[in-house]
Amino acid sequence: MSQWNLIIDVARCVNCNNCVLANKDEFVGNEFPGYSAPQALHGPSTIRIERKVRGQGHMVDAAYLPLLCNHCDDAPCVKQSSGAITKRADGIVIVDPLKAKGRKELVATCPYGAMVWNEEQSVPQQWIFDAHLLDKGWQEPRCTHSCPTGALRAVKADAAQMAERVRAEGLKVLKPELNTRPRVYYKNLYRFTDCFIGGSALVREAGRLECVQGATVELIQEGKTVARTSTDAFGDFRFDGLGVDSGKWQIRVTHPEHGGATAEAVLGTTQVLGELLLSHTGEQA
Ligand code: SF4
Ligand code: SF4
Repeated sequence: MSQWNLIIDVARCVNCNNCVLANKDEFVGNEFPGYSAPQALHGPSTIRIERKVRGQGHMVDAAYLPLLCNHCDDAPCVKQSSGAITKRADGIVIVDPLKAKGRKELVATCPYGAMVWNEEQSVPQQWIFDAHLLDKGWQEPRCTHSCPTGALRAVKADAAQMAERVRAEGLKVLKPELNTRPRVYYKNLYRFTDCFIGGSALVREAGRLECVQGATVELIQEGKTVARTSTDAFGDFRFDGLGVDSGKWQIRVTHPEHGGATAEAVLGTTQVLGELLLSHTGEQA
């Protein structure tokens, strides 16, 4: 049986907030009986964009993570709501605006922070996948329709089809250790959750420091090379998708003409090693 899923590509999200605004346009001041009470103009949003900045100096990147209800198949909010929150056959979780009225404690049942409290209506609310529109024949919710970069894709698929997409596209879910079985999947989630080690390879020529393009850079842990890359036109290199607190790493840079350099990093979080001066003696800048 086909059910709704959402795929979010973190690498494509540019924090334009179109999805947030489209969602507010749909729900603020508008009541959809059986689906949603009117959302508050100034209250917390049921879709929000989180930001993560990694790196330093010239090697900085920002990643944006759209955060909304995951429509979990094993949802803590459903289990603790005594019937006020239900899961539909198409996978969508709905907070009943009448049965949930006054039940502020339901906000805390969501471990993702996706449930918000509407003070004006005295009701907990989450992003309802625009079920009221899908039930009228819409092919997708407003947030995916309004996203200009393709960062959001609504997908109706059965379990086998979705499992194949998860495998083929390397999709992840938030907090997998909770086993809530989210229906919102993230691509390139490492941009938000993981670290990188970066740096720049330079050489001293005629008294000047020059960037070294095309040097081979190895990432080594416990004596084993686990990844390899080469420096770009600015002498820069980067190894991304490394775990937070993943311990001691070694970097070895080599170039047939300019020699080599090594450096060590203990992660922690993202580390920019700065300038590595290539030489035939291992001298560093
Ligand atoms: S509309 Fe798309 S690109 Fe813009 S903030 Fe939302 S998900 Fe990101
Ligand atoms: S993300 Fe939170 S609000 Fe949505 S279904 Fe899961 S537990 Fe419930």
